This record gives sequence, structure tokens and C-alpha cells, in this order.
Amino acid sequence: MSRLEELLASRNSLAQLVGYETFAHRALQGTMARNPETVRRFLDLLSDQLSKRTQKDFEMMTKMKMKLNPQNSKLMPWDHPYYSGVLRAERYNIDPGLYCPFFSLGACMEGLNSLFSQLLGISLYAEQTQRGEVWSEDVRKLAVVHETEGLLGYIYCDFFQRPDKPHQDCHFTVRGGRRKENGEYQLPVVVLMLSLPHSTRGAPTLLSPGMMENLFHEMGHAMHSMLGRTRYQHVTGTRCPTDFAEVPSILMEYFANDYRVVNQFARHYKTGQPLPKTMVSRLCESKKVCAAADMQLQVFYAALDQIYHGKHPLKKSTTEILKETQEKVYGLPYVPNTVSRNILTVLIPLFLPAPCTAHSHAYCCIVMLKEFSFFQPLYSESKVLEIFS
Ligand SMILES: [Zn+2]
Repeated sequence: MSRLEELLASRNSLAQLVGYETFAHRALQGTMARNPETVRRFLDLLSDQLSKRTQKDFEMMTKMKMKLNPQNSKLMPWDHPYYSGVLRAERYNIDPGLYCPFFSLGACMEGLNSLFSQLLGISLYAEQTQRGEVWSEDVRKLAVVHETEGLLGYIYCDFFQRPDKPHQDCHFTVRGGRRKENGEYQLPVVVLMLSLPHSTRGAPTLLSPGMMENLFHEMGHAMHSMLGRTRYQHVTGTRCPTDFAEVPSILMEYFANDYRVVNQFARHYKTGQPLPKTMVSRLCESKKVCAAADMQLQVFYAALDQIYHGKHPLKKSTTEILKETQEKVYGLPYVPNTVSRNILTVLIPLFLPAPCTAHSHAYCCIVMLKEFSFFQPLYSESKVLEIFS
């Protein structure tokens, strides 16, 4: 803990050395939120709107805990992910095994191809790789081609599990796009990394609904990189303001959960039968279970992040601040000498180049709903909070 406090104090000194009031002011410069005051107002507003719904979610979880564990029914922080899962399973019985046959990798890629062609006039073409070009033989290369502008860039799809490969879905840039001095455009090259199972003798690679949503999410990042047109490569695509970076991929998640999109590509790999509408609706509804409590947890992380990177010296120890903020913003009791594993999502950015941006996820959700006009009839601003209901 003393290391953490030292790190935060050093960040504060560095920020002040270059003329900022706090590290938060420095880190938020150039983001959409612009300054800590906006982030705080945003978090307060979100928290206000969420609080009743969060309370309801916690009550539902407590009831379920009373049913399953009557001797010890007080709701603790580690109960949140477990009991929200139990409630989701009880209400909607989403068995991934029932969905997987409709989401073969080929069908999902065709779905993406047709979505991009309808929305953006873009097609994806598999391209042969040269010897030594890829790091594993199951990596595929896609050329991204626009109907009038031509080749926009390349995506290497490193989709399959293999020993020693990090088990993490992500997108990263190999070469950013940029306008060169001679007027030509340096084409972006990115990698999409997933951990999908290989096909078997009897079946192609089949994705669970979660895997399909992740594929859409990561593809949102890849397309962001492909479509960016900037003079400098260090601000291109996903290298944009941190609290905008997730907007295209959250947009893609909405597509992955919209029947009108899913209906176009989800086909049973054996029979060719489309995924029944009721199954898509059940899947979408299940995501709303305990969504307020989930978002409240994100608000707590973001609030903690802001205080740690706010005015120094901190008024209390980092542990006392954690306890106070958890109880005030999140609402579940702090347990002495414990740190939730999930709190690492706040602590990790402390050590990465993007600290002080834990608000980004919630911010991106709202920006996505607010800015994309073609989504407004579906998810108008007044309906924003229904998503968390
Ligand atoms: Zn992402």
C-alpha cells in the first residue's frame, strides 16, 4: 500500500511540475470529458439515476442468497457476480449450448461482412499470406476494401487457442495509418486476437453468444483503426481520446444483440435454420438483469480512480478511501484487509499509460447512445437508463 501511495504522490508531483493542478487534470486533457469536474458531475448524475435500480438489484440478490444460504444471507461484494449470474440463469435459462450451433465462425464473419457492406460500403477479403509473414499458421489475413476508395488496410485474425497464447480478447495496432508527406496514405495493419476453439471433425468452430459479442466488439476496434484518416499515426483509430475508444465497439455490441442484424447471419450449421426470434429476445433480456448494479460497480471504480488521482496529499490512506468510497458509491460493505479482485481494473490502469480513465466505459456507453443518430429511434436519450433498469 505504501508503494501505491508513493506512486500516486509521484504522479501528482509530475503533473504539478508541468503546470497541472492534479494528475487527473493532466490525464483528462484531450479526452471527451476534458477535466475531473465533468467526470465527477457525470458520475454523480449516473449514480443518482442508478441508485434506486441498484438497490432493487441488491435486494433481489439478497433474496436469492437467503434462499440458497439462509445462515449467512448478508450480501457481500463477492456475492454480486455470483448471484447476478444465478438470477440470470433462473429467469432466462440461457444455455450457450443451444445458441452455439447458430453461431459458427463462418456465419459470424459473413454477418460482419454484410453489416459492413450495408453500413459502410466495405468488404472483407481473405488474403494469402507470404512465408514468414504470420506467427502461427492458423492466423488469417483480411484485406479491408471500400467500394470506391479501394484498399483501406489489413486485419490479421489470430482467432484460435494455442498453448502459451494469452487468454485475452484484444485488438492491437501493428502499424497505424497516417497521411505521408507525398500525399499517399500509409495503410493501417492491426491484429484481432481471440481465444476460440478449433473446429472439430464433425463441426466448425462454434461461438457462444458471449464469444460472438466479443468478436463484434473487437471488430469494432479494428474498423475504427481501418476507417481513421489522420495526419499522424499516434492519434489514428483506437489511439484516439481514451474515453472515445470504446464507442465503435460498444456500437458493434448493440448490433450483435439486435434481432434485425442477428437474423441476417445466425443459421444452424447443420440445418441452415435461422435462430428463432424468441431466443434472441431472451438473450437480450437476460443482459438487463442486475445491469444497474453492474454499472454502479463501474461508477465506484471510476470514483475511486478520480479520488486517488485528485488533490494530494490524500486526506486519508488509500485503504480508508477505498472503504469510504465503496460504502458510499457502491453500497456493499468493505471487508477489512481484502481487496476485490475486480478492483484490479482500477489498479491496473494505475500502472498502464492510461490511468485516471476508469470512467471511460460508462462514458462511452452514454456517448454511443447520444451521438449515433441512427440509433436514437431505438435507444433515445430518454431511454438511456432503461438499459440499466
Ligand atoms: Zn474494447
